[in-house]
Amino acid sequence: MKLISLALLFLLFACSPSAPNPETKTVEATVSTPAALPTSPAPAPPPPDTLPEPENSDAPVIPSQAYLTGKFDPANHPDFVKVAAKYTDGDPYVLHQDTYAGFEAMHAAAKADGVKLVIVSATRNFKRQKQIWEAKWNGQRLLEGKEKADEVYPEPADRARAILRYSSMPGTSRHHWGTDLDLNALNNEHFKSGEGKKVYDWLTANAATYGFCQPYTPKGAERPQGYEEERWHWSYLPIATQLTDYAVSQMKDADIGGFAGAAAATEIEVINDYVLGINRECL
Ligand SMILES: [Zn+2]
Repeated sequence: MKLISLALLFLLFACSPSAPNPETKTVEATVSTPAALPTSPAPAPPPPDTLPEPENSDAPVIPSQAYLTGKFDPANHPDFVKVAAKYTDGDPYVLHQDTYAGFEAMHAAAKADGVKLVIVSATRNFKRQKQIWEAKWNGQRLLEGKEKADEVYPEPADRARAILRYSSMPGTSRHHWGTDLDLNALNNEHFKSGEGKKVYDWLTANAATYGFCQPYTPKGAERPQGYEEERWHWSYLPIATQLTDYAVSQMKDADIGGFAGAAAATEIEVINDYVLGINRECL
């Protein structure tokens, strides 16, 4: 009885001149569901000043401490773009859009000369580098495939230097910047003969035309400190030099932290020896 009288009441209401327009999407009451009677007005849309903030409003600018140290998600930074699969080894990568434009031009020129460039690593943020670093620091990942760093190097500074032969401390990697790429193979020998040599010879002759430079050349009088030679690692200078200048003037070893073994940063002078220990032509 109660249901029927409620339904009748609703029908009466629905036929009155003040009934809501049936076309209005916010009113979806039906006679069969008295609980859905339009007893209160539909919620009004929020005024423009209460709309949610755009997702990327806190993306760090170039140059800034947060940007330099990779403390952001490059996949959600408005200046970053996805790399097309045709340029990669199949893994997903992102790059700063200017780096990407430079790479596309360089890739096309190389292709015209019969040289194939393949991206095998690109942007890695602080969070990703922390995973890589801590796996090596704790011995879960072997150094150069053979040493457990925690057993072979019990002293923190020695262990940090051993990992730093080829991996950066979180917060100090050029791969944070969206400017740096690893190409074709993570192995210097690959670039010393055959197809690999052809690629490396092409890059040393032509990469500068497209803004790219090899920061980790052989160590010696010209480059006494820093990472070992990396023939695969290339850096897009129009942006990278701004970030290097920022590191020179603003960064201190004590600013590096937030991961296992960070205390070694000051002892090994990570900013001077590693961040700035690059090929002078890339400054
Ligand atoms: Zn690299």
